[in-house]
This record gives sequence, structure tokens and C-alpha cells, in this order.
Amino acid sequence: METHINGYTKVLGIIGNPVEHSFSPFIHNTLSSKLHLNYVYVPFRVSSEELQYAVRGFKAAGVAGFNVTIPHKKNVIRYLDNVSKEALLMGAVNTVKNMDGKLFGYNTDGEGFIKSLSEEGVSVKGKNVLILGAGGAARGIAIKIALEGADSIVVLNRTPEKACEISTIINDNIRHISKYDVLNKETLLHHGISCDILINTTPLGMYPDINQCPVEDMDFLHPGIVVCDLIYNPLKTVFLEKAEKKGCKIINGLGMLLFQAISSFQIWTGIRVTSDIYKNLQKNVFKEGFFNSL
Ligand code: NAP
Repeated sequence: METHINGYTKVLGIIGNPVEHSFSPFIHNTLSSKLHLNYVYVPFRVSSEELQYAVRGFKAAGVAGFNVTIPHKKNVIRYLDNVSKEALLMGAVNTVKNMDGKLFGYNTDGEGFIKSLSEEGVSVKGKNVLILGAGGAARGIAIKIALEGADSIVVLNRTPEKACEISTIINDNIRHISKYDVLNKETLLHHGISCDILINTTPLGMYPDINQCPVEDMDFLHPGIVVCDLIYNPLKTVFLEKAEKKGCKIINGLGMLLFQAISSFQIWTGIRVTSDIYKNLQKNVFKEGFFNSL
């Protein structure tokens, strides 16, 4: 990948702790290069104690924008000048744009998920959606799914209080369409039978514990259900394997990873990333060998 850094180069980056294993530098530098834009994207490892100084420094230095990852997605909000309504509902910012010295926060995770479904010809509008897990990723996508017009959203989680939080945010701020429960065999069967889209947002099955699965018994599945896993390492989790055997359409987390990045890139540059560029980016991710060992 060629980069020609000169006096006009605009700086983008990611702050998190750790950030060394992030795919984002590769994704964004590839996009800049393919679109012939003069941007460079750099990883910054920032501790929680240094977060406010890093953000202030980015502002002072005129950094064009940056991504925010674990553990700063929530805490960064207090250092920004403005935050989108969607990101406030999600309680997390993953994208910050510097507009004339003012920092604006967004969250593109939910949009990335919706676009990854759309790329596979799947829409959440009018659908009954069942979400397993109630962490940060679940909250982001659940809120976006509600905003996109799903008919119902059920959140099942090991700790039901966290699922309750997500349902309450949706019911109080968007529409009264969400229920929650503890995640177990009975609740899964009860809600699974009537769902159109089932999504695993727990890390169960993620490398290196690739034999784990959030649910034992998936007999309730039928070919009409679309089954998604936010995990992208491995690309086909045991959860997705089981669903595929039942004839379900399956969608892994790679599309979400790429599309949330594309949405951030569009916010910073104002340039639309076409479907061709997306496909090229996907090809490059594989060519680069990120997923060879999966
Ligand atoms: P998180 O905030 O830590 O939430 C994890 C959720 O999984 C919690 O609800 C937790 O339940 C549940 N969980 C964890 N271990 C469990 C177990 N042994 N049994 C049952 N439930 C368990 O994590 P996150 O940030 O939401 O990320 C979740 C997953 O999504 C990760 O695999 C991450 O890689 C993936 N992700 C993918 C993308 C993408 O672009 N594709 C983006 C973001 C995240 P409790 O509430 O009971 O603890």
C-alpha cells in the first residue's frame, strides 16, 4: 500500500488500549489509497488516565478524525463538543470528526451491522429479532435495529438486568417493541420459535475458544430464520455451523467490521464508498492474510 505523506496530509487514527491488533489502520489506509485521498490512519495506544489529554491534543493538532475503541467508547463522550442522538442512546462513541476545531461524536457499529445484512439482501424492517447477549455491541445494534423499524426485539442475556437496560432504552426512546429475559434453554426456545433474525453478540465461539457456542440446542431453527454472529474470528463459528446445517442463511461479523469502518470513513471524508470498493476491500483483507489462519 502506497502512502505519500506531505504537508497536506490529513491525519486519522484510532485510540484504545490495546490497539496493536486492530484491523482499522489497514482498512482505512486501503480506502484512502484506493480513493486517492491524502489521509493517513495511525493507531494510538492511550490509557484511561491519558484519554482527556489525547483528545485535547488531537483537537489542538487538527487531527481530522479518529475511531475510539475499548475501553474508551463511553468515557470519550465527556470530552466531545457534540454527540449524535444515536450514539447517546447507544451510550458509546466509536467515531469522532473534527469540524473546524469542534469534536463531533458518532457511533457507526449499528449502521455497520445493518449494512452487512443489507449486503446479503436482508432487512430488519418489520422483523422479529432475537439478540443473545447484552454487552456494548448488543446495545449498539439493538438500538439501530429498533430505529430501522423492526417489529419486535427480544434480548436474552446471562445477566438479565443488562438485557433489561437495553429493552428499557428502546421502549422509552424509540418504540415499545422490546422484551428481555435471562438466556437459557427454555427462553431461547420460547422466543426462538417466532423470530426471523437471530443474532449472537456474546463472545462465545471466538478464537481461541472456537468450540464454544452460546446455545446447546438449536433444534428450533428452520430455514426461514437468518442467523448472524458478530464474531469474525473464526469466520464460521460453531453457532453459525449449526444454523447452516438447519438450512438457515448465515451472516458472520466481517461485514459489520468493514461497514462500520466505511461509515466512519464516509463521515470524515464525505466520500461515498461504492459497493465495488467494498468488495475490493474485502478481497484485500483476505489477500493480506488476516484470515488465513482462521
Ligand atoms: P461485552 O460488552 O463484554 O458483552 C459481552 C456479552 O456476552 C455480555 O452480555 C455477556 O453477558 C455475554 N457473555 C460473555 N461471556 C458469556 C458466557 N460465558 N455465557 C453467557 N454469556 C456470556 O462485549 P461486546 O463489546 O458487546 O462484544 C461482544 C462480541 O461482539 C465479541 O465477540 C466482539 O468481538 C464482537 N464484536 C464484533 C464487532 C464487529 O464489527 N463484527 C463489533 C463489536 C463487537 P453478561 O452481561 O452476563 O456478562
